[in-house]
Amino acid sequence: MSEVQILESVQQFIARQHGHFIDGENVAAEAVERIELYNPATEQVVSTIAVGNQNDVEKAVKNSHDAFLNAWANTSPYERGLKLNKLADLVEAHAEELAQLETLTTGKLINISRHLEVAQTVIFLRYFAGWATKINGQTMQPSIPSANGEKYTAYTMRQPIGVVAGIVPWNFSLMIGVWKIGSALTTGCTIVVKPSEFTTLSLLRLAELAIEAGIPKGVINVVTGKGDTGQHLINSPLVKKVSFTGSVPTGIAIGKQAMASDLTRVSLELGGKNAAAILADANIDEILPTLLQATFVHQGQVCAAPERFFVHQSKYDELVSKVSAAVQQLKIGSPLDESSMFGPLSNKPHFEKVKHYLDIAQQNNQVITGGKALEGTGYFVEPTLLKVSGVDDPLFIEETFGPVVDVIPFETDQELIEMMNHSRFGLTASLWTNDLSKALRLIPQIEAGSIWINMHTFLDPAVPFGGVKASGVGREFSDAFIEDYTEVKSVMIRY
Ligand code: NAD
Repeated sequence: MSEVQILESVQQFIARQHGHFIDGENVAAEAVERIELYNPATEQVVSTIAVGNQNDVEKAVKNSHDAFLNAWANTSPYERGLKLNKLADLVEAHAEELAQLETLTTGKLINISRHLEVAQTVIFLRYFAGWATKINGQTMQPSIPSANGEKYTAYTMRQPIGVVAGIVPWNFSLMIGVWKIGSALTTGCTIVVKPSEFTTLSLLRLAELAIEAGIPKGVINVVTGKGDTGQHLINSPLVKKVSFTGSVPTGIAIGKQAMASDLTRVSLELGGKNAAAILADANIDEILPTLLQATFVHQGQVCAAPERFFVHQSKYDELVSKVSAAVQQLKIGSPLDESSMFGPLSNKPHFEKVKHYLDIAQQNNQVITGGKALEGTGYFVEPTLLKVSGVDDPLFIEETFGPVVDVIPFETDQELIEMMNHSRFGLTASLWTNDLSKALRLIPQIEAGSIWINMHTFLDPAVPFGGVKASGVGREFSDAFIEDYTEVKSVMIRY
């Protein structure tokens, strides 16, 4: 099959000289330096972006602060919800354009960009839109003694925290950007977004659509650049909260920096080394399609996806042979070709990192299936299954964030739980079983923020998401995000 036709609108957008998006328009950066964005399937430059310095960042934050005070804080909750819904409509109307922008710089299969990234972006925007009219305080009855018949009442109100900095990774730039934008806007905050330096375009385009949706200028600003640009944002005194999604080392650095910057609030959604436990009763043929999809979607570059399969000894050989056979059938190819089933890794540094782990596995004779980078152009690697030497093996411990999975046998439940929890991370986990009684006993013992039964990697806005241990601080979605984006003000009245 041939590649999809790149839309005229996409060609025009990538050909533009992009600056930052501030006060509703493209604003040239102060510095002349540019960052090149590459197509990971062809290694060709797709477009370039600007590098935000301190002045650029201050301009964006100041403008976002003005928009908070003068526009968004005076917009009724109903209006905020309407505008977020309107933005969702526009994302839907421009779905193919956004999907192509995403695929061109992330290497995400075009159908995953369409049916997961963009489709979920719409769903999340509508979910957050619904919250705008439902964020309320409480009333209380104080017990203060009343000597002369005076009475007391009290209530709380939730107020938007102000300007939020949203720092976004490269794997699902649009959708993860919208997790932050939706949370900020529905609570009445404004936001300055710093997309990843590898995949910046879709959020720049979304910011334009927000203006078309009637969201006032400055409510969503975008500054582009690398980590330095992000640091300027965190240091800005007008930024009241940092919402970060990315790697553990960056998250820890950001957390410290935010605390040092007058205790700026911070929520951190970080990495994982997630476990999928296939129990003795699991029917391998039945679970195989879902397990494969959950593991290898977007070439395994999904924070929530499993990288460690724990398989009951009685099912180990069957699982290994069936998963190996299935991944060898995945057609590796251009992400713009609708018949491809597996695309490239998203960028060169990440490709080098994953290749490093594959080389170690090759040297130590640990490869069960796959294990190689493809010759030729593009950052392609094979979907890979590995053996590990034990729980101290770096391949057991470190997040590869790629299509690389350890397969580890276990005998007893106790052994399973000990190995699953032997990790500094605690983002997600899954149990594959129809033994409900066993699953309900194991769930409380697993150290992870999200646990799935007979599924993995599925996120839904109604269900809180976030990690324990080094996988993060805070929760997104459901009503959990409200705490992070609002301040509670207490009011007590004597009468
Ligand atoms: P990263 O930490 O390298 O970068 C993330 C973002 O932070 C980018 O925009 C980057 O420019 C910026 N940044 C880098 N250094 C910074 C600094 N010192 N100060 C401020 N900003 C800085 O992560 P990545 O490689 O883009 O993404 C992959 C990682 O993200 C993986 O570890 C993955 O597990 C994690 N991730 C987690 C979730 C989640 O929800 N828990 C979701 C997606 C990805």
